[in-house]
Amino acid sequence: MKFSEALKDRSKFLVIAELSGGPDFNFDPIEKFMTAYNKAGRQSIPADFNFAAVTCTQNPSGVPNIEPSTVHRQLNQKNLLGELDFIPHITCKDQNSDALVSLLMDFKNAKVNSLLALTGDKPAKGKGVFDLDSTGLLSLIKYLNNQAYMKAKPEELETVFQFTPAAAVSPFIYTEASQMQQDFKMEKKIACGAQFFITQVGWDWKKSVELFRYLSENGYNIPIIGNVYFLSSITSAPRLMHDVKLTGCYVSDELLAKVYSEKVDDHIERAAQQVAMYRAFGAAGVDIGGIMDFSHFVKILNRAAQIGTGWEKFKDNLCWPKKDGFYLYDDSGKRKELTKFPKKFRQTFFDFFHRSILDSNYRGFRAFRSVMSGLGTKKGSGAIYKMFNASEKSIKYLMFDCKECGDCYLPENFGLCTIGGCEKGLDNPPCGDATVDGFCGNDLMRTCIGELIYEAASAKEGGIETLRRTINKPRNPKLENTSSILNYLFSKDHTQKNPLISIGEVIHASIPKTGKIMKQLASLGPDAYTKPSGPLNYIRALIESQAAENADYIAVNLDAFGEDDPQTAIDMMIEYAKMVRSWGGGVPICVDSSNDDVLTAGLKEWFNTTKPVKPPLLNSIKVYTMDKMLPLKKYYDFSFIGLLMSEQKPTGAGGSHSIDELYSLAQKLFETAVGKYGFKPQEIFFDSTVFPLAIDMPMDSGIPGYTYRAFQTIKKIKSDSKLKGVHCSLGVSNSVRDLPGRRIGVCRAYVAKAMEYGLDAAILNTAHRYGFVEPDPELLAMVDAFANLDGSADKLTNAMKLMGKFCRESRKPPK
Ligand code: SF4
Repeated sequence: MKFSEALKDRSKFLVIAELSGGPDFNFDPIEKFMTAYNKAGRQSIPADFNFAAVTCTQNPSGVPNIEPSTVHRQLNQKNLLGELDFIPHITCKDQNSDALVSLLMDFKNAKVNSLLALTGDKPAKGKGVFDLDSTGLLSLIKYLNNQAYMKAKPEELETVFQFTPAAAVSPFIYTEASQMQQDFKMEKKIACGAQFFITQVGWDWKKSVELFRYLSENGYNIPIIGNVYFLSSITSAPRLMHDVKLTGCYVSDELLAKVYSEKVDDHIERAAQQVAMYRAFGAAGVDIGGIMDFSHFVKILNRAAQIGTGWEKFKDNLCWPKKDGFYLYDDSGKRKELTKFPKKFRQTFFDFFHRSILDSNYRGFRAFRSVMSGLGTKKGSGAIYKMFNASEKSIKYLMFDCKECGDCYLPENFGLCTIGGCEKGLDNPPCGDATVDGFCGNDLMRTCIGELIYEAASAKEGGIETLRRTINKPRNPKLENTSSILNYLFSKDHTQKNPLISIGEVIHASIPKTGKIMKQLASLGPDAYTKPSGPLNYIRALIESQAAENADYIAVNLDAFGEDDPQTAIDMMIEYAKMVRSWGGGVPICVDSSNDDVLTAGLKEWFNTTKPVKPPLLNSIKVYTMDKMLPLKKYYDFSFIGLLMSEQKPTGAGGSHSIDELYSLAQKLFETAVGKYGFKPQEIFFDSTVFPLAIDMPMDSGIPGYTYRAFQTIKKIKSDSKLKGVHCSLGVSNSVRDLPGRRIGVCRAYVAKAMEYGLDAAILNTAHRYGFVEPDPELLAMVDAFANLDGSADKLTNAMKLMGKFCRESRKPPK
């Protein structure tokens, strides 16, 4: 059984053996252990334990060693793994994000799916990479998992390969700042996709209890694997841990003295007591490390089985804390008050400076940006740019130990630089290397940046909660050595906003593949939407990937299911609203339907929770449904897309709505929504309907094209001061229907052109990053020709000519 399945099954207490190679890339210690296991057989393991996997470290302590992939290959070649699974450690210290993808794909090809995702130790000699940290690596794995579902065929969904990543957590930390940062980091790792945890080594049962208490207090039900290190004087590990030579591992003076006064059997006994302790706490299993000899491993397990639930007798032997260390809970289990740290001068200076010219809510920001823009610094070159960059560098170096990443996270980190201030330059410090006193384990002269950030956060109103929730994305390497202030000012860094309010469109029942999978899911019975299955994971992947692509709303359209029985679409919308709420990372739903009952059901379900949710978007409301739908605003906060269509016969040329008619529909919707039902203008989106470019060619002279009318309507709405603040949105994918190729390119050009007329929202595929990437000039010219189809013959000829050329050039050769 794979470890990931055993983790779900949990009928037995799981055991992992943690193995490392010997000096000089030596496989022998691993081979010796595994040969002994194969000789002794499974019957050597106590019946209530499931020895399920071996795990292999990757360059521990940053010293080059045999790679986990090589260990896995050799174990297979020598037929030593048998039914055991293999869990490699994957770290970010030696490889950038691209190399990590290749490594993960190698493991996928070798059918290795469980892994431990770590930031990694600081390399002993080489330069650490740390392009990602553990949260970035977990997010990358989540992305790969979601992509695997999204690329799978509907009939293959039950066999899609998925990684099951573990993360590390260190409870054996004794300052308030480090402890809280570890707890927050654990929560961030869960948000980034960790599916189980392996703890750091440590000998303090009270700290282990705190870990389980924190998880249950905050509603997390995630499997924990306790790390049981066989601490014995037969190796140098106790002394190295005591002397802070194995970062993140703590052995107190008393424990060191005790270990050196004992015999090996006493060391086995302590490890066995710890196994029993974790079992009694409800851990899913243990990871036993520091073992070279298989007979020690078996003795530990047998003795742990003998102890059973009676570990408390040995509390004193499992309690070697730092004196006067911080505990989050008192002896009765009550949570302690956290300290309010004072604000330091540097933070005050940073806050003042930032507010004065870099906070977009203040006038100073706009003035500063317009001056810098006027000086031509936006292009990122030239003498003034260089002068500014040089002075920025020196001031920020002096004040913040700035290392010129160009993608500055000082505001998110409360005025502290995690590149210059951290030995590994992590995006989301701390790692687990800090000493028990809060110093960096890689440079004992400096305080861990995680400590300083915590203290600065605590000095700010609401700062601790902000710190707990903020996950910094990996920095953009392209910005290195450029001016971070100007990158921020001109939206080139991680603060770059979506140029459009983007409404993700991929959960739509009329998309053939998605519709088929939605049908499969619906047929799975009453627990279809709660019990894990391939189709459910597919929908989850669609939701999570759009949230990760910065969708502002995640649209759900189930109208295809309501054609025969509207109630089916209503029932399904309730389930999809729940799923978006659970997996959308806080991104609100856009309930998309032509049926008002489906809209109402989705809206009500969205708010059917005790947790705070952002207001959803309803698509669509028309003038002839507005008096039924808009009164719901009294009970539920929402925005809506007003579709510019009416039940009246159109009076425009060619039998469709004229620009004036469309505009007057917008006015009616606006007046009713704002005047009668209390909507704010920014809660109203108008949709003037997209017509496919391929067939937007009126045959009679004097009749304008649909694209022309849609764009001109947007322009008219956006230039009306009475409608100030409203948005204009289009379902842009419809524009490229029936085109023979280059649909993403044409859609990109369509969006760019529509934005020139005032489009500021769109229902689109968020993966294509429309509005960020420059369109192809030829495609832009073609869309422009359609945008100008005002009914005159020469404009029609031009549009037809460009479309003809495009079709000839884009057609795929016959097979
Ligand atoms: S400063 Fe803190 S987060 Fe950075 S390497 Fe040192 S211990 Fe880890």
